[in-house]
Parts: sequence; structure tokens; C-alpha cells
Amino acid sequence: ADAAMYAAKAKGKGTFQYFEAHMNVEAQRRIELETKLRRALENGEFVLCYQPKADVGLSGITGAEALVRWRHPADGMIAPDRFIPVAEETGLIYPLGNWILRTAFLQAKAWAARFPGFRLAINLSARQLLADEFIADLADILRETGVSPQSIELEITESLVMHDIDTATRRLRSITAQGIRIAMDDFGTGYSSLSYLQKLPIDILKIDRSFIQEYTGPQDVERAALIKAIIAMGRSLNMRVVAEGVETAQQLELLSRHACDEIQGYLLSPAISAEQLECYCADFPQRSKAVS
Ligand code: C2E
Ligand code: MG
Ligand code: MG
Ligand code: MG
Repeated sequence: ADAAMYAAKAKGKGTFQYFEAHMNVEAQRRIELETKLRRALENGEFVLCYQPKADVGLSGITGAEALVRWRHPADGMIAPDRFIPVAEETGLIYPLGNWILRTAFLQAKAWAARFPGFRLAINLSARQLLADEFIADLADILRETGVSPQSIELEITESLVMHDIDTATRRLRSITAQGIRIAMDDFGTGYSSLSYLQKLPIDILKIDRSFIQEYTGPQDVERAALIKAIIAMGRSLNMRVVAEGVETAQQLELLSRHACDEIQGYLLSPAISAEQLECYCADFPQRSKAVS
């Protein structure tokens, strides 16, 4: 932004005024969106969808990932990419994140009772994990909902950890001490060193979908080697390895051959409503025959 301002200034006063006006429009848009998000939270317009995960042999559903959507009264379903960044910048991610945790924990409790071993994964933002109140709030939500911590996974990203590695490490240790598992999401897309991987209490490695999607078949020898290496690394660090964005039977075959643990992706299902997920789990033995 500084460079842009400098360039605008260098071009003369007219350009700078234009630039300033443009900035005001952008700032205005953010303030409006923040107000809308706050109201949406009060009005109960956020919903969670759930994307199932299965073991690589497709013998059963292992759990699901909760993915938030904004059900806008006029504009319909809005994807998280369009509001999570603003919620993070404005701090609204904190109350929204607590709503997501509470809703997902209640759902996880119901599903763990119905589908043995079922675990629900929930995405965490940096602002949430690094907030002073987070550990206390998490304990409150666990107690209020009565969910078993063993039914919960929290997904974090490399960039989240890199914000403040010492605080993140302390918080993650206190979370895993309570029995909740930690997954490293979108693995392979960050810029951080690998050394933190063994220092942090990470139980699950989720290979980013870009690695999986680039693989189109056995002729992709180098891409296959990369996926194989990531799986081997995760396993040697005693992590479960999950592949996200699995869309084709060929991708599944590769992951199965290299002993990845779980898969998630459109090959199984997109994110669906809670009711649809229940039908999906009940019908899975039939469905899995069609997939493989
Ligand atoms: P993510 O955690 O990496 O979630 C996976 C995204 O990949 C989801 O997009 C999912 O719909 C999409 N996806 C799953 N399988 C496939 C596939 O086979 N092919 C393709 N092309 N895409 C697939 P979605 O729901 O739009 O979520 C986008 C991102 O928004 C998430 O990425 C996550 O970073 C963030 N997000 C979603 N829900 C939450 C939340 O509750 N809290 C926070 N903090 N972030 C969230
Ligand atoms: Mg995720
Ligand atoms: Mg991911
Ligand atoms: Mg992502």
C-alpha cells in the first residue's frame, strides 16, 4: 500500500486524490461488510455444512469437516472465502468462531453416539487460537456441550502457526492435553520450515488439494513421487495422513498404494447439510461400491 501511495504521489496531486477516494470506497465497503456480518451472526444466518472423510480402503466413514456458509436472505449461499478474511481482519471471527465451535461440538456429540468412532474436524483461524481468552472459552464450550474431546479435531494452517510460534505451541499443547487432536491443514502450501512439524503437537497431516489435483494418472511419475514422499514423512512422524480434494479413482488408487490413511473430496461427496450427511453415512456401504 505504501508503494502504491508513493507511486500515486509521484504522478501528481490529481492521481493521489483519486487514490485516496478509491481507498475510502474500499474502507467503506469493509465497514459495511463488517456490519452485515455482525447482523448475520445475530440473525442466525450462518450454517455449517459437512464434508465426509473415509478411510482409504473405503470401508467406512471416519468423520467429516465442518465448513461454514453464510445463508444470505437475498444473495443465497455465500462461500467462506468471501467473508472469513474480513471476519479475521475485524475480529468478528472470534464470536463467529465460538458459534462454529459450539454448533460443531453439539453435532459431533450426536454423531459420535450414532456412528462409532466418528470425528468432526473444525477449522481454526489465527485470531482465534492467539486470542487471550481462547483456551478458557474452548474449555467452557467443551463443558457446556458435553462432547467427548476424542470426537474433535481442530485444523490449523502453517501461516497461523508462523504468526507467533511460541504462543501457538503453548496453546496447542494445552489443547492436545485435553484429548483434542490437531490437524495441519493445506500442508505443503506454506513457506515455513519443516522443523516446526516435529516440535508442534500435530496428530494429522492434511495434504493440500493442489498436490492431489495435479495428479492425473500413472504417467505423472514426479507428482506421484511427491505425494508418496509427503505421506511417508507424515507417517514417519507418527501422524495420520489425510488427502483433501480427491476427485478421481486414479488419485484414490495412488493414495491407497502409498498407504495414506484417509481421503476427503468430491470423489466421495462435496460439503452437505447435517441431514444429508446422516443419510450418507447410513448408505455408505452401498455407495462405496460405486466409487471404487
Ligand atoms: P479448507 O479448510 O482447506 O477446506 C477445504 C475446501 O476445499 C472447502 O472449501 C471444500 O469445499 C473444498 N473441497 C473439498 N473437496 C474438494 C474437491 O474434491 N475439489 C475441490 N476443487 N475442492 C474441494 P470451502 O468450504 O469453500 O472452504 C474454503 C476455506 O474456508 C477452507 O479451506 C477454510 O480455510 C475456510 N473455512 C471454511 N469453514 C471455516 C470455518 O468454520 N472457520 C474458519 N476459520 N475457516 C473456515
Ligand atoms: Mg480445513
Ligand atoms: Mg484444507
Ligand atoms: Mg484452504
